[in-house]
Amino acid sequence: MSTAAKAAVVALFGPPGSGKGTQAERIVEEFGTTHLAPGNMLRDEIKRGTDLGKAAESIMKAGKLVTDDVINPMVTRRIGEELKAGRAVLLDGYPRTIPQLEYMEQYLASIGAQVSVVFRLEIAIEALLSRLLGRLTCPKCGAIYHEKTKPPVKPGVCDACGAGLVKRQDDNEQSVRQRMDAYRQQTQPILDRFEAEGKAVLVEADRDPVTVYADISRRLRQ
Ligand code: AMP
Repeated sequence: MSTAAKAAVVALFGPPGSGKGTQAERIVEEFGTTHLAPGNMLRDEIKRGTDLGKAAESIMKAGKLVTDDVINPMVTRRIGEELKAGRAVLLDGYPRTIPQLEYMEQYLASIGAQVSVVFRLEIAIEALLSRLLGRLTCPKCGAIYHEKTKPPVKPGVCDACGAGLVKRQDDNEQSVRQRMDAYRQQTQPILDRFEAEGKAVLVEADRDPVTVYADISRRLRQ
């Protein structure tokens, strides 16, 4: 068995605002997996003012998907690096379309690896809107807050690293609706495939994050 095959690939799925980022933080903390989130990678490119960042910015702001020729190599290269180093990978926001799934599976097969389990976070649309429209994120360390339900100790400042908190550019109502449509139309079919393979675990995400995490953590320890 190759080194890559021994390290797990786990994925989190759920509509925008279902808590993927928050759960990812906890999984990374407990299991030491590497968190690979193309949304975070792209936001970092934008922050650094790279060509890729400039090309992706308006697409992201509108809540549309960045093209596969950008996303696929960017993410699979990182997956490969981590697995080859023997580290497990947590995918958050990838794959998002059937062509991305097929590209990734082909890549994983080529290095003797495969996805072991995917978590499907389920939550009603009304709850999502209020979560997203109040969300604050830390541009430096990625910590996530909410104006009402999880405010930072000092308003506007990250508890973890002291950086100024920001609202994501795409956390506006129009963009949120567009992202939900993209999820329903393009990402949902991926879950149907994982379900058929018996790899999808349903998680009720409209509960407090600690309870949601208890379910995920229990399954990952199995
Ligand atoms: P997220 O942080 O996962 O909500 O992603 C924010 C935005 O980044 C998305 O609305 C897309 O514009 C872009 N993005 C993230 N992941 C992908 C992906 N797998 N494929 C295409 N675009 C993506």
